[in-house]
Parts: sequence; C-alpha cells; structure tokens
Amino acid sequence: MKQAAITGKRKAELIEKEKPQARGDWAVVKIHVAPMCAEYKRFVNGNPGDCLGHEAVGEVVEIDCPGPVQVGDRVVVMPQYPCGKCELCLAGDYIYCKHKYENSDTTMAQYLLKPAWLLPKIPDGVSYEQASLACCGLGASFGAFQKLDANAFDTILITGLGPVGLGAVINAHFRKARVIAVESNKYRVDLAKNMGVESIVDPGDPDAVKIIKSLTGGVGPDCAVDCSGAVAAHRLCIDTVRSKGKIAFVGECMKETPVIVSQDLLRKGLTLIGSWHYNLNDFPKLMKVIQQSPLIDSFVTHVFPMSQIQQAFETSASQTSGKILLKPWE
Ligand SMILES: [Zn+2]
Ligand SMILES: [Zn+2]
Repeated sequence: MKQAAITGKRKAELIEKEKPQARGDWAVVKIHVAPMCAEYKRFVNGNPGDCLGHEAVGEVVEIDCPGPVQVGDRVVVMPQYPCGKCELCLAGDYIYCKHKYENSDTTMAQYLLKPAWLLPKIPDGVSYEQASLACCGLGASFGAFQKLDANAFDTILITGLGPVGLGAVINAHFRKARVIAVESNKYRVDLAKNMGVESIVDPGDPDAVKIIKSLTGGVGPDCAVDCSGAVAAHRLCIDTVRSKGKIAFVGECMKETPVIVSQDLLRKGLTLIGSWHYNLNDFPKLMKVIQQSPLIDSFVTHVFPMSQIQQAFETSASQTSGKILLKPWE
C-alpha cells in the first residue's frame, strides 16, 4: 500500500508499506479521506517520518472476529490506541486513557488497523468528505462547546481561525451563539467573514481588549474558546471574558501562560477548562452538526490526491487554507 512520508526539510513523498491485517478485535479500514492537521510543522522543520496524520474516514474491509463493525461499514476513525477497558475508556473519555497501546496513528496511508470500538458508523447521506470533519475539524471545538454548554444566549470569543477555529465558528453558529473572532491571517479572516462572522479583531491591535469589550456593551464575552495555542491569546481571553465567564483551551500550547489566582480566578470567578477532544458518546450529536449546518461545505477549501503530497503540504504550510483533505487512493 501507499503511505505518505516526510523525507526532509519541506520534502514529502509516497513510500510503499505492507498492508495491515485484521487481528482479534482490530479491523482494517480502507481510508477514503484523511484530513490534514498540524503535520505541516514537521514538514517545515524537516522532522522525517512516515507515521503521519491522526484523522481519517473509510470503509471496513477486513475483520478477524465478530464485533461492533462489519465489512462494508462506513466509519470515522477515532484517534489514538486507548485500552478500551479502563474507567475513562468506558465513559467515552478514551482520549485521556493512561494505558494506550504503543501504536502511532498513521492516517496518511491507504489502509489502517484500529480497534473496532473506535470506528463509529457514518450515517446514510453523509459523504466521506463531510464525515471527515468529525475529527479535529469540528470535533476538537465540539468537545469544548459541550463542556461550556454554549447556546443562543452567549457571545463567544474565538481566538485563532485556523482549521480548528473555523470549526469552532461552525459549532457556535449551529448553537446560534454570537461570535467575536480574533485573527490576523487575511485568507482566514475572509473565510470567516464568508461564514457570517461580523466581528473579527486583529490580535496585533493594541486596543484589542477595548474593542472586544466595546462589542459586548463593556461587559465582555460570556465564553471564549482558544484555538490558537498562543500565550497572548490565552491572556486576551482571560482579560476580556466577563466576570463568571468560562474559557475553554483547545489549541495545544507547551509554554507557560501567566494566571493570577486572586485577580483572574477568585475575584473574577472565571472557569478555565482544558478540552482535548470530545466524548465518544457525543458522536451522534456531532454528526447532527455535520448533517444540519449550512456552513460545512465552505469549511473545506482544498482536496488533494495523496499522489500530490508535496503540494498538499506546501499548501498546508502556507496557512492559506481552511480544512485540507487528502484522498489516499488518488
Ligand atoms: Zn483506557
Ligand atoms: Zn487533527
């Protein structure tokens, strides 16, 4: 089978690998769509490897024993290789499992092996392209919106309009919440405007806090969802959200964000939430967003055959895109 690999600084190509075989309760999925995520960072840094991607949808083509999926099922491939037995896995919060198998997600390939319980079925009428947004595209922020319990009463600040932030715009729109976004990348600002976001603030504007406050009658947004992973954006959320507001952090950030316990938490009453993914039991609800949101199709800006992996990575690295989808069989 063919599989994508990063072979040098800004160099990607396809390599030949052995097709996996079903064993026990692990099934083989023929991957039809593999959305691209943050792999472009490895491409830019020249960090070589062939275990690329963690987002996929496809068709079950081989099982070893009877279980939750059958050959021919159209499925979403959930990320990682959690144990499936611990309390967190059984509750649907498998992303936090402490007993994960050592397998690495490798979705930029023609086939993949996965525990069958991590392959929820795609409803009829939903295309592979649409269903693929149940991974990081919409899924990452969906988990945050569930935890924030955001709805039509709320004004939500979304910082960072990369593919995860644009997905957050769709989730906010679906819940009829008002959005104030923070982004400077012109391509993505224009994309968000086309999705109906009226207020987009430049994070480089020295008056950003004032502008966001003035857009909410001086009070501040009810909630914030950070999709940028930038320390400055974390502080912007903390400084602008109203007293007793809630902030969900979705963008990965390995740096330290200064939080003043008395000022920000005790006296302002903020609730800070980390949200890595969504609970597996919420999968049917996320599918409803995909089935019903009119904004879904404007979210995907590029579809590349995997044979054009170099060009796909160049586009992803240029940050002039919404969500990018790869087709491993083209
Ligand atoms: Zn587990
Ligand atoms: Zn992802």
